[in-house]
This record gives sequence, C-alpha cells and structure tokens, in this order.
Amino acid sequence: MDRHFDTSYYHQIATSLVLPDRPYINGRFVEGCDVVYENVNPATGRTFSTISFCSARHVDQAVDAARAVFDSGVWSRSRPEHRKDVLLTLARLIRENATELAVMESLDSGKPIKDCLHEIGTEVPNFFQWYAELIDKTFGKVAPTGDDVTAFVVQEAIGVVGAIVPWNFPLLMTAWKVAPALAAGCSVILKPAELTSLTALRLAELASLAGVPDGVFNVLPGYGHDIGQAMGRHQGIDAMTFTGSGVVGAQILGYAAQSNLKPVGLELGGKSPFIVLEDAPLTDDLIANAVNAAFWNAGQNCTANMRQIVHASRKEEFLHKVEAKVAALKTGDPLDPETEIGPLVSWKQRDRVQGFIDKGMEEGARLVTGNRNLDRQGFYLDPVVFDNVKADMVIAREEIFGPVLGVIGVQDDDEALQLARDTEYGLHATVFTRDIDRALHFARQLPCGVVGINGFTEGDVKTPFGGYRRSGSLSRDKGVEAMQQYVQTKTVWIRSLRGVD
Ligand code: NAD
Repeated sequence: MDRHFDTSYYHQIATSLVLPDRPYINGRFVEGCDVVYENVNPATGRTFSTISFCSARHVDQAVDAARAVFDSGVWSRSRPEHRKDVLLTLARLIRENATELAVMESLDSGKPIKDCLHEIGTEVPNFFQWYAELIDKTFGKVAPTGDDVTAFVVQEAIGVVGAIVPWNFPLLMTAWKVAPALAAGCSVILKPAELTSLTALRLAELASLAGVPDGVFNVLPGYGHDIGQAMGRHQGIDAMTFTGSGVVGAQILGYAAQSNLKPVGLELGGKSPFIVLEDAPLTDDLIANAVNAAFWNAGQNCTANMRQIVHASRKEEFLHKVEAKVAALKTGDPLDPETEIGPLVSWKQRDRVQGFIDKGMEEGARLVTGNRNLDRQGFYLDPVVFDNVKADMVIAREEIFGPVLGVIGVQDDDEALQLARDTEYGLHATVFTRDIDRALHFARQLPCGVVGINGFTEGDVKTPFGGYRRSGSLSRDKGVEAMQQYVQTKTVWIRSLRGVD
C-alpha cells in the first residue's frame, strides 16, 4: 500500500508535529497571556496541545505593528511584481508543507484527512497563487473628460484589515480572506476560531519565510467575545471581514458603528435547498451530489443543502437510493484516508445538533436512517436522513450545521420554488433538471448568492461567493469581487493649466 494512503502514516506525522502554541505578531511568535486554551482532538475527546491566548494588549500590539508597516509602504506600496513573487512563494511553501498542515487541521477540527489534504494541498495554495497573479494584471481607469482635464480612478489598499473566521474550514476560510487582502497591499490581523487556531498560526510563519514583511500578517488566537470584540471595536483597524454566524455578524456591525464606522464584510449562515425536479433522472451522480451536499464536512458547512425538495413522483426512489448511499459512507478516524465523515468539532456542537435531531422526531419527521449510538469516543454523530419534513418544522427553518438531511415532497415546480424561497437565508441552492428553461427559471428566481445547476458546487476561486438576505452583506469572498473588501477608490482630477493665465 502506498504509504500516503495509510492511516498509520498520518498518525505518525501527528505524533511528530511541532504545534504552534502562542500568538504571532510582527513576524514572530510572542508570549500569550495567562489564558491557556486546551486543543481537544474531536476524534478522541482528549487534549493534545495547549495554546496561550491573546489579551486586548496583544490586539493593540498587532494593530501598532500592522499600521507601522502599512504606513512604511514596504508592502502596501511595493511594486506589484514584488507582492506577486512573495505570494507565489507562499503558495509554494504551503504546497510543500501541505501534509503536515493537513494533519494539524484534522487533529484540531476532526475533519477527514482526505478533505484536509485537498483543501490545504490544492485549494489554499491556489488562492494565494490566483490573487498573486491578479496583482500585476489589475488596472485603474481613466475617466472620459475634455482635453482640459485628465481624471483617473485608482484603487488603493484600505489599510489594516481585521479578519475573523470560523472553525469549519479553518485554513480555507483564512485563505479566502487573507490572500486577496495581502494581494491588495493591506496589513492583516486574523483571529481564528478558538477551536481551530493551529494551521493559521503555522501559515503566518510560512508567510514570513516567504518574505511577507513583519507586521503585515498577524494571527491572534483568542475568544470571540474578547479578542474578536476588541478587534471589531478597534479604532486602528480600517475594515473587518467576518465569516461565521448571523448573531456574531450583527455584533461586528455594532462594533463598527460604535467605533470608527469601519466597513464590514459578512459571510453568514444558510439553509440551502437541493431541488430535484420531476424530469431529473435519479442517477448515481445525482444521489452522490445529494449526499455530499448534506454531509460534506459532517454537515458543518454554511452551504449544506439540508432541505432536499423532491418531486413527489420521485421521492420514494430518491429516499431509497439516498439511504443506501448514506449507509455506505465511512464514518471513523479522521486520519484514516478512507474516512468520509469524521466527528463534529466539539461536544457542544454535537449536543446542539442532537437537539435538532430530537426536535425533528418530536415534530413528526420520519427517521429514514441514522441516529444510532455509534459507541465511539469523540464527538461522532450517526448521519441522519429524515422524510416528511414540513416547511414550518424547526429542522426546516434553522441552520443545523451537522449531518442531517431532510426530504420534503412537492407536487410541482411552483411548489418547489415557493418552498425553496421560504427562508430568511440566501446563500446557496442546487437544482437538478434536464430542462434548460426550468433551470434558468429557478436560477433567476432563487434569491441566493450561488445556484448550482445539476451539481452541488460553491464554484471555484474565480467565482464570487456570498449571501443574499441574512446570509451576508454585499461583500463577496473569492473572485475579483473579493478585492472590493480590501481596497478603496480614489479619484485624481488633474486640471490642465495650459491656456490659463
Ligand atoms: P461564530 O459566529 O460563533 O464564530 C465565528 C468567529 O467569530 C469565531 O472566530 C469566533 O471566535 C468569533 N466570535 C464569536 N463571538 C464573537 C464576538 N462577540 N465578537 C467577535 N468575534 C466573535 O460561528 P462558528 O460557530 O465558528 O461557525 C459556524 C457559523 O459560521 C455558521 O453559522 C455558518 O453558517 C457560518 N459560516 C458561514 C460561511 C460563509 O461563507 N457564509 C462559511 C463558514 C461558516
């Protein structure tokens, strides 16, 4: 067996990892405060390392360092080719260290190593590479004027950016924010989720090795209500970008309003539909998409398509095939490369999701499969499929963020669309149909930031990602659109003095 596909290979790496244990400010690891956080491995429930968290003093230090280097211009006003070279080097270093980073992320979050290797070995470095390549291909504009004026419009780095990310895709969400912000020339202060700080801290070290100047990228591990709040309220931070829950997103808007009116980019939750229209053949591919849409990352995914809306004539066959596919999913040790579903990130999250499952049963949804006691250490949950979900049930309305798929039968396209739209969220939707007119109708009528036709997808680095309604603000991550969070627009209006006395 290829050793890269061997569980013991990844366990061996896990035992030899040197784990970051303190904040990274101004190009070096620094002493944290006396709050020591225990990193718990979700697969075992046991502490595997500790980390010194930050205090408000560290936020001030990081802002001072980020501001000083921003004002110096060594990064913010450096030649585009320079920032490009440095970020390409960082992409290369991430690829070279991908296995170690993937194991670290898997230990910290419980995510299957297969997913971590893909995210960190491919997607994360691609983000740095793509935004690096964009730097010297982005032009300003010259406005139409008479001969007496030359007016140009340029975009300048916004300054010091505060980024706060969640625990479900720790390094990927970090890359979504940090790669475009650094490409723009900003200085960045990142707060990872308290549960998953390790890979972001290691990334900061790699960034320094790649040549990112001291102070340009700082990582502050700490609690949200403490460090996240201090960042949100800080007068020295020029913009905030946040991915996480709607409740905290609203707080970040409040901090901005109460401090310096900094702009805030928000990527929030979702309750996304997966719609199977009458004409869609229930192929293996469709079923694989349905199961992946609900259970990828154990359902801890903002785009999880948990509300599966299926034409009544296809529902029995759909349920039968989904049940078989779910039964074949491998739940287990995240460091086993065959594992498809790992544990949830924490006891708290597991209990929260179990609460939704209990509520679904109580409200009369029919349990098709799952919810067995897995009798394992760690924060595992047996993936659940519900039938007969009704639009007004709690499990159809609230974001569950766990491995729960609910099926709702409908009589026709109009009912499917009406149900799909019946949510306060607007992040994502998937539609399966062979009919181009139906596909276009749904694509236009669904109020959400991403619509996947005949495939569950979030697009790729080139396409913007973000939410309508309560799923986010006007900001987008990914694509050239992401740059808008990290730049501001300046008009330079030059009057000709030719002919003026
Ligand atoms: P969360 O909102 O509790 O935490 C997110 C981050 O905010 C963490 O770093 C946390 O420490 C910080 N935080 C918490 N309280 C804070 C406060 N008072 N002030 C400042 N920062 C604070 O969310 P979570 O539980 O980590 O993540 C799950 C949520 O994230 C889900 O709702 C999910 O839908 C959402 N999410 C959205 C996207 C997206 O792109 N739209 C992607 C991933 C996750």
